[in-house]
Parts: sequence; structure tokens; C-alpha cells
Amino acid sequence: MKILVINCGSSSLKYQVIDMATKNAIGKGLVERIGLPGSVLTHRNGFGDKEVITAEITNHTVAIKLVLEALVSPIYGVLKDLKEICGIGHRVVHGGEKFSKSVVIDEGVMKALKECVELAPLHNPPNIAGIMACQKMMPGVPQVAVFDTAFHQTMRPNSYIYGLPYDYYKKYGIRKYGFHGTSHKYVSQRAAVLLQKPLSDLKLISCHLGNGASICAIRGGKSIETSMGFTPLDGLMMGTRSGALDPAIVTYIMCRENFTVDQMNDFLNTKCGALGVSGVSSDFRDIEVAAEQGHERARLALDIFEHDVRQFIGAYAAVLGGVDAIIFTAGVGENSGPMREAICKNLDYIGVDLDAEKNKVRSEEVDVSKPNARCRTLVIPTNEELMIALETHELIQ
Ligand code: AMP
Repeated sequence: MKILVINCGSSSLKYQVIDMATKNAIGKGLVERIGLPGSVLTHRNGFGDKEVITAEITNHTVAIKLVLEALVSPIYGVLKDLKEICGIGHRVVHGGEKFSKSVVIDEGVMKALKECVELAPLHNPPNIAGIMACQKMMPGVPQVAVFDTAFHQTMRPNSYIYGLPYDYYKKYGIRKYGFHGTSHKYVSQRAAVLLQKPLSDLKLISCHLGNGASICAIRGGKSIETSMGFTPLDGLMMGTRSGALDPAIVTYIMCRENFTVDQMNDFLNTKCGALGVSGVSSDFRDIEVAAEQGHERARLALDIFEHDVRQFIGAYAAVLGGVDAIIFTAGVGENSGPMREAICKNLDYIGVDLDAEKNKVRSEEVDVSKPNARCRTLVIPTNEELMIALETHELIQ
């Protein structure tokens, strides 16, 4: 059985075909610059061989059509026939309070998805466009929506209600939703396998540290607290996002810089974070290189990030009442031994004890703790596409 996984952004579309027998991606690719000049599809087969297809890709329907053609191309395709695809799993960023788990998409679900648009005006419209394009191009194939927010619907009101008039929660849906749920769920399940313990017995802190970054406290497989909030801007300082700020700073900068609401939004999402502090790059690899060469603001950006992550780990250890394992995942978490080491250096009080040699690992599932560490430190590469495929597979069977 093969599942097509689709992740639509406003001008991009990522896809994978996953063979559920092996759990491997037999084909994957990326459409870039949808609706813009210079649009292109880069397709890879299961061996990584690359095919670059340039075409005028005016919208998501055209993009999906091109992807489906690529999948069955006699030269570089990965399927004999599109009928091999038994289901399509879509990443949907925001499910609001309507969705606490993945769902098979029907008319009622589409209506509810459209109602969530005002909570994620940048993310949900392209997700919906991708679903509608697949409905048109692959009629009759069951489709499933997998939400970034769903995993966090287990948080309690004392985690998700802000100190605002309660009416604003009721009127506008202003509350903490949390994101990266598919990743936090996946790595927590893998952690239980790695630790050879039931997930229901474990207290975990999952650190998804990529260009976007969030931390999640997981008890018995359920999210009980997370660092992103009403939007993915909250929490840790990230590549280009500010993370949590004193809210008064927002209006202060708007007045000083004469920013409109849109300009301020754009500023907080794209000009801040590690990029804003370092002035070097939003890419942690570039920042690490600059810091090694003595660039002070690059060093400061890394120090802030490390400090931020450690603060959340400490807070979540308190919320959980102890920690069995800390999980590092996503670009920085999976690959940067130095950053993991820096984050863990003051965590011996909760039982963290890193093995420097094992901690050199990159993008592999490894317990990088010393044998007697009370709290294990795990590196677990995330695989949101596989998680989406697994949930799709489960729901359509
Ligand atoms: P992601 O959003 O999960 O794709 O992660 C992207 C981030 O991971 C970028 O900031 C990359 O610079 C960072 N990253 C990838 N590999 C490394 C590495 N070896 N060391 C430090 N950061 C890395």
C-alpha cells in the first residue's frame, strides 16, 4: 500500500510517496515558486536520483497535476499507475479546537477547515488549496488531514488560557494551540521504542530545534505543555522569529518605526530571531561558523538560543514533576552536537549526563547519555511525513 503525503505552503508544495510495507519514501520532491515566475519541480526517486522539471505552475492544481505526472513518468517515475496510491495525507497547520486528531476529509471537514482560516491566514489557505487540487485530480482516493495543532489538544486550560479577558477566548479563539505536534508525537513514540518502555509510563521533553523551534512536555504520550502559542511565533527565539517577548515591545516598536500591523507581523516573523541578533544569517550552520571565527553577535545568538532552550527544559521538568528523557530533533537538534552539549551543560540536577563521544552523532536515532544517566538524552530524527502516512494509513483502513 502506498500513501502520498502532501505539504502545501503558499508558493511551495512538498510531497513524498511512502510504501507502507517498508515505511520508506520511494519518491519525493518539491515544487517551488507556485504562481511566480521561474516555477520548478524537483523530483527524486527512492535512490535520490534527481529530475528538475521547469514549467509554468500557476496554482496548486497545476502543481499537483505535475507531481502526479512525475510519479508515473516512464523515465523517472516511481509508480506504474496512480491507482497504486491508496490514500493521500495532507499536513494542515491549524485545526483550531475542532480537531484533536487526524480525520478523513469530507464536506463537513472542509467546512471546518475553512472556518480555521482566520486562525492561520498564511498557512491554512494553501493547505486547503492542496486538498481541493487532490480531490479534483484524484477523485475517489481517500484523503486525510493531519494537523500540527491536534497533538496539543490534550493541554489543560491552565496551560492554554492566556491572562486576557476570558471573552476573547470565546469570541476570537485566542488561546495557546501549539504547533509541530506531528513531530513531537512521532519522536515521543520513537523514544518509547528506544527506551524499551511503554509510552504511557514516560515523562518526556521533546525539543524540536529547526528553523522553527518548539519544546513540548509529554506525559504518558500526551502533550501537556508547549512553547508555541496562539501562533508559531511564540516561545523560543528561532531562525527569523522573535519568540516570546514582553508584549509591550510590539506596540513600542510599531510607534517608533511607524510600522503597520502587516509590517510588524512580517518584522517579527522574518527579521528577528537568530538572524536579527547575529546579523549574519538565520541558518544555524552559518552562525556557528561565524561564532567560531570570533563574531560576537553570532556567539550571542547561539548563547541566547541555548539559554532559551534550557529555560524551557527546566520549566517543563517542573511541570512534569521529573523527566525520563530529553529528545533532540529537527535540523539543529539532530545535527549540532555542540548545541546539544551547550544546552545540557547545567542539567545534571535533573539527571542529564551526556557522553561526549556518542553526542557526535548526526541524524541517527541514538541515546547519547552515559550508561548511568538518570535522565536519558536522545537524538531522534523527526519524520513528519512518515507520521502523516501512518495516520492516513490507519484511518483509511
Ligand atoms: P529544519 O527547519 O529542521 O530543516 O532545520 C534547519 C536548521 O537546522 C537550519 O538553521 C540549519 O542551519 C540547521 N542545521 C542543519 N544541520 C546543522 C548542523 N550540522 N549544525 C548546526 N545546525 C544545523
